[in-house]
Formats: sequence, C-alpha cells, structure tokens
Amino acid sequence: MATRNTLASHAAAAAMTEFFEVLDHDGAARAAELRIDPPVRTPGRVDDRVVDGGSLWTAAREGPSPDAAALTILPHRGFPAGTDDRVVRAFPPTTTDHAGATAAVVTAGSAEAVEADVYILSDAPGKMGHAAAVVEAIVGLREAIPADTGVYLAGCADATNVAMLAYAGADLVDATAATAAGYDGWYQTAMGTEVAAELTERPCMCPVCVDGSGPLTDPAAVAAHNVHALDVELRRIRAAIDAGTLRDHVETQARVDQWLTGMLRRLDQQYGYLERRSAVNGRATIRATTDDTLRRVAIQRYAQRVTGRYQNRFDHPLVLVPCSARKPYSTSQSHRQFYDAIDYRAHVVSMTSPIGVVPMELELTYPAQHYDTVVTGRWSATEIEFVASVLERYLSANTYPRVIAHVPDEGYRTICEQVEATVDVPFTYTVTEHPTVERSLRALADALDGELRYSKHERETKTVQAIADYQFGRDVGAALFPRSETVLHGRYPKLQVCDTDDEQLAVMVPQYGLLALSLAGARRWQRTTPEAATVRIDGFVPHGDVLAPGVLEADAQIRPGEEVLIDGPAAFGVGRAVMDGEAMVEAQRGVAVDVRHVEAR
Ligand SMILES: [Zn+2]
Repeated sequence: MATRNTLASHAAAAAMTEFFEVLDHDGAARAAELRIDPPVRTPGRVDDRVVDGGSLWTAAREGPSPDAAALTILPHRGFPAGTDDRVVRAFPPTTTDHAGATAAVVTAGSAEAVEADVYILSDAPGKMGHAAAVVEAIVGLREAIPADTGVYLAGCADATNVAMLAYAGADLVDATAATAAGYDGWYQTAMGTEVAAELTERPCMCPVCVDGSGPLTDPAAVAAHNVHALDVELRRIRAAIDAGTLRDHVETQARVDQWLTGMLRRLDQQYGYLERRSAVNGRATIRATTDDTLRRVAIQRYAQRVTGRYQNRFDHPLVLVPCSARKPYSTSQSHRQFYDAIDYRAHVVSMTSPIGVVPMELELTYPAQHYDTVVTGRWSATEIEFVASVLERYLSANTYPRVIAHVPDEGYRTICEQVEATVDVPFTYTVTEHPTVERSLRALADALDGELRYSKHERETKTVQAIADYQFGRDVGAALFPRSETVLHGRYPKLQVCDTDDEQLAVMVPQYGLLALSLAGARRWQRTTPEAATVRIDGFVPHGDVLAPGVLEADAQIRPGEEVLIDGPAAFGVGRAVMDGEAMVEAQRGVAVDVRHVEAR
C-alpha cells in the first residue's frame, strides 16, 4: 500500500554500523552506546579512547590497524572554520574497510559521502560561541548521516555548554576545551565560568576542591577540576535523558551564558528537526518556568493539532474557563463548580499558559495534564500573546453560536477582549471578582438558560472522536467511530470503544489521553483512512517488536510514541512507534515498533 511521503529502505546501500547503537531518545538527544571495549555510554567522553589515523595533508596513509578498545579516526583532512563548502567537497574523507569502530572527520556538507560509525565535525571548535553557526553545523550533520551513527564534537565541550550540545544532537565529546580553559585560569562549573585565582569559595567537592576554599592558582589543578565538572554534568545529562527531562535542564542551562540562550532560540527555530524526533507521549511533567517553555515541541505541537486537526462537534455555546493547578482540570474544585453551573449545556475549553487552549475532550492528552506552572496570576506579555494567538486560531477553525468567557481579570480577560475584537462571534463575560464566587457561578448558569443538555454518551463519543482527530488527523474520528455504530464501555477515562457487534476497536489510555487500537480498530483505520500511518515490513510475522532492519518502508509523518499499522506479505498488526518514520528506514539496529497485536496472513 502506498502512503504519503513513504520512505523506502536503502538498507543495502547504508553503512552497517555495528559499533554505535541508539538506546533511547529525548528529542534530538540520545542515550547510546559506543561498542568499543569497554563500551562508552553517551552522551559521554571519548578522549583517550581515540586513535588518530593522521592527516592526509602531510602524507598518504593506510590508516591504523583495528583496535577493539578504540575509536579509530579515519585518515582525514581538517579544514579551518569557514572553509568554503566547495573546497571541502573537493577533498572527500577516505572510506576504508576498517574492521573496528571508525570515526570520519567531516563537515555537514561532506558527511553524506562517507561511511563511519561516528562523525567528527571538523570545524566545530571554531564555531563555539556562535549560536547560529553551531546549531547549523550540528543540525546539518545529523540530517546528513544515518540515524544510528554518532556525532563527536571534538575540542568543544565544558561543564557550561555540554547539555546544550547534547540537546542539539551531539553524542560524544572530549575534555580538551575544559582542560585548556583550566590552564588559562578559568574555573568552570555547570553554573558558569569564574577566574580561578579570584575564587572566594569553591562550589565543588572534587578531589581538587574538597580540601580548601578560595583561589586556585595551580593551572593543572584548575584543569583537573574542570574535567571533573564536565563529567558530573555528563552524568546529569544522561540521567535527564533517561527521565525525559533534558529540555527542562537546558532551559535552566541556557541562562548560564548569553550564547547558550541564543543557541536554544536558534534550535527552537529548527522546529522540524526537533519535532520529528520528539515523542507524542512524553514521560515527564513539564516544569514550565520561562518563555522558552512556550517554544517546546510538546507545547507547539499540541497547539497546532488543537487548531488544525481537532474539531468541535458540539452545537452548544462555548464556555471559556481558567485552568486549574490540579490536573486533569475537571478533578479540581473550581472546575467541578464550573461543570455544576454549566450542567451539560456548553462546550468547555480551558485557557492556560503554557498550553494555550484545552478542549474538554483533550484534557488528558499529553501534555495537557503533564505540566506544572507558577501560579502568580500574572502572565508575561509573551504568554498573553501566545495564548491569544492560539485562542484566535481555535475560534477561526471552530464554529460556535456564542462565547461565554467565565474568566478572571489578569491576563485571561485581556486575552478574551483582544481575541473578541478579531473574530466573528459574540462574547459574554460572567465573572465578578472571582470565577468561583456564588455571584459569578449564578451568572454562568443564567447565561446558559434555555440551552439543551447533551447526554453523557454524546459527550463520551465526541471525546473518543476528538482524540482520534488529534492523534490520527482531521476527520478521522468520525470515520473511525461513527456515532450510530459506536458503543462505549467502562467508566471515563478508562473507556473501551466497541462496534455494534461488541467487538473492541480501541481503548483510551488515561495516562496520555490517547487511543490504543485493537486489530479490528487497526483494520478499520486502514479501510477508512488512506493516509493511516503505516510501517511496511518484509515477509515475516513479528513477535514482540519490529526491529529496524525488518522495515521496508515507513510513513515520514510517524513520530515516536504514535500508533502505526504494521503491514507485510506475511502479517498485519498494530503497535506504537519507537522511532520516527525516517529513522525506522535508516537504522540498522534497534526497535522500530513496539507491536501490540499481530496476525499472520
Ligand atoms: Zn572541583
């Protein structure tokens, strides 16, 4: 079956990377293993594990003999930062049939022509401090090389910047830059750089710092401390990737140096690069703290899907309400009071920073119940602008007879008045003093006087349809679960969706507010939706997982964590993507799809 933007596997032509395996992702950052003896966990340091094949500028070289304990740099030509791409391409790196783990010295422009396990960005140190250049180089390199090969930034990392480098997509680093800074008298921690000779306190317990306080004057000691600080930070990064919290960490780390702030902004502008690699079901709670939070993939993607894929299926008025600290909102005391006053006579949408707007059917859907934010009652100008733009897009995409804004002053009301002026639907305001005071709640109930009530079944059916739209694409909800042919069992949010013969089509996963399809549901998705996300496999019946080498084609729109159909000459099934669609096709190793149900053909 042909799917949109389907990618065919070029397995035969691709480099067979035996020595680098990606084990886990957190956006573009990865936890991987460089399989030399002993193995190196990434993001990590390779320093003394590297054997250099030497420069081709000075001699023609064969390359060193294989060493199971080392990463061998293939004979190469280095180019100064800023060398014209045409010059670089005129001297492609040499590819050998070296039997061990290999690294090739490349630029983003020359990487595609060479096969290696790891790619070293040749002019990276010259770009450090220049946010745009570093981001362009790392992103360009990662886009040019296979998904299961590593990126080594030699001579760049220190405790202040290594989290941002890893977040951008670097896997391997060394201590060269941290050591050099130490010899120059700079004392580094993740919190910043200080003059070692002017320290009043040593904020560190490494062997150098533990027995004393105040200035450090021995350059070798400062260098040793800097390397220790880099190693501590690398541990923190690996733990953050494991927990799915690296973005929280880099939003803090971006404040340490202005160029790191710039680097995070530049990276966020590479939205497609980050979005493709970001799971639709994040593991961790988002600790929303800064305006950078609004630019996260999880936040932007939710806003895009709510204003693009989701559609309101209620004919009732819209009630806009403020979010609550407690998630999901409907379990909070304030929202229970709102729902009592509304009494099934309106569609409810919560306004919130940093999510934007949350329709009631999607209040469980990641990240709507997975964030914590500072509740000061005062929003920044950026937050007001963001929520207003999402609300405006939402009201342009959905039709309502009228809007009842049951919102407090301070931000919410400002946004509503701003949006009211740009859209073609009348607004009524029902809050006096505070949304939960008796007078406000009575005004809300009165504003809905005469409206018809919808049933619980109607609400729940529209909920699973809305989630299907959000997950699978606009209009898919109605095709997959037509109202007259859909039977629901269970108690919200643990809903089971069945057809009229009581065959189960899907279950709702309360943790992420997403649907998991059964085989019958998967067959119906394939039948009703030509663009259903599909992974084409070879002639085998997968057990447990589909591994990347077994993938022939995959939809380029597939994101980690998404439902996918598994389709091949010997089997049909449904599961959850572990990699994005492009990576499934490129990778030679690793799990591509976590299979839930499969049947032999
Ligand atoms: Zn120290």
